[in-house]
Amino acid sequence: MSTDEDRDRLAEQLVALPVHELVDVMRRVLPHYTEDEDGLRSVLLLATATIHEDAPDVPDLALVAWPDRDYYEGGLGADQGLWNEGDCAKCNTTVTSNAKRGHCPVCGSRCGLT
Ligand SMILES: [Zn+2]
Repeated sequence: MSTDEDRDRLAEQLVALPVHELVDVMRRVLPHYTEDEDGLRSVLLLATATIHEDAPDVPDLALVAWPDRDYYEGGLGADQGLWNEGDCAKCNTTVTSNAKRGHCPVCGSRCGLT
């Protein structure tokens, strides 16, 4: 059991990270919260919501893909924000990433983003 102060310190450390490093930390953490029960799988994910001024009630949602560290030879891809987008060829989920090559956070397939 952690205290509020423990979680505040952890949050301060996470906030100090650039987004591509934060995503890498979440890649290591969130899969631990996957639940499989009665033929259903529930996966905890990161997502972005892009809200347009002229249609604020209809945001564009995209799940954050995990950078393909094999493709980047252990790296995380460019530190440029989550501006690359694409659709997973296997499960058709819309994904976003800082990287051009990533893994779908739902099914794990490799995704090419532009
Ligand atoms: Zn997928």
